Amino acid sequence: MRKFENIKPVYSRKVRKVIEENYRVKTIEIEHDMRDALPGQFLMVWVPGEGERPMSIGNSNPLTISVASVGKVSSKLHELRAGDMVSYRGPFGRPFRIPKDAKSMLVIGGGYGVVPMYFLARVAKQNGMGVYSVVGGKTGKDIIWEKQLFTVSKEAFITTDDGSRGKKGTVMIEAEWLIGEKKIDQVYACGPEKMMLAAAKVCHDHGMPCQVSVERHMKCGVGICGSCDINGHLCCQDGPVFTGEEVLSMPDFGKRKRDASGKNVDI
Ligand SMILES: Cc1cc2nc3c(=O)[nH]c(=O)nc-3n(C[C@H](O)[C@H](O)[C@H](O)COP(=O)(O)OP(=O)(O)OC[C@H]3O[C@@H](n4cnc5c(N)ncnc54)[C@H](O)[C@@H]3O)c2cc1C
Repeated sequence: MRKFENIKPVYSRKVRKVIEENYRVKTIEIEHDMRDALPGQFLMVWVPGEGERPMSIGNSNPLTISVASVGKVSSKLHELRAGDMVSYRGPFGRPFRIPKDAKSMLVIGGGYGVVPMYFLARVAKQNGMGVYSVVGGKTGKDIIWEKQLFTVSKEAFITTDDGSRGKKGTVMIEAEWLIGEKKIDQVYACGPEKMMLAAAKVCHDHGMPCQVSVERHMKCGVGICGSCDINGHLCCQDGPVFTGEEVLSMPDFGKRKRDASGKNVDI
């Protein structure tokens, strides 16, 4: 029996600033210092008449989300302007965990997955940890937030599938090299699921602890509806951050997910 102790207040706050990051992602800064938000957690952001969607927290003060316009709710969020009101619940979910004895970390971000990675890296650097980072995208135009992430990194790398920025290939080219070369205690990844599957496998092969942030279709965000189930794990409550070993034990990870109707579809 699950406990629903995760009910959080609904906020309605003013949009402070909207930043156009690229052709499909906008960052929305909200006039809110959400002090209880931790890296890896998410908000359930509400667009009246359209629905609610989970969005990763990119910063706690000012509270920040970065939204890719891909459908119904995200395209409406792209219409927000400074001074508009935005409504949300949160923060929700199991955050990234930093082991007490860890001294250095590698963060891997693909697409808008770099946003929660920055929040984590910033907190880690404040706590004296060394941060290595790799940011990837399909093309140079898909790379966002690299400047923010690079300011808190000891060493940082870019990769693109087409080679238009940084090294040509996936983030794993640089990540695997860093894991082999540097003294890294923990790896964190957020981005396309196939990328995170590759990261979990590489870390497993190197005996390196790893955590990844999993995206599934969510309706309630608090463990009631079950729509974000992945092989018996609720992404909203048990995740979104899972260990590499946890996701490698989930047959659907990197392969199948539920669509809005609950039907299992290929990724
Ligand atoms: C924990 C968590 C954190 C998330 N963080 C973010 C975030 O920081 N920024 C962000 O933009 N989104 C994030 N998402 C995804 C977000 O919640 C929505 O799924 C996404 O915005 C689509 O909602 P929509 O209503 O616009 O699209 P819908 O109308 O629901 O879907 C339209 C179509 O787009 C497809 N689609 C859904 N998501 C994507 C995608 N990412 N890329 C391409 N196609 C897609 C759907 O399969 C569907 O075919 C997160 C999801 C989870 C579970």
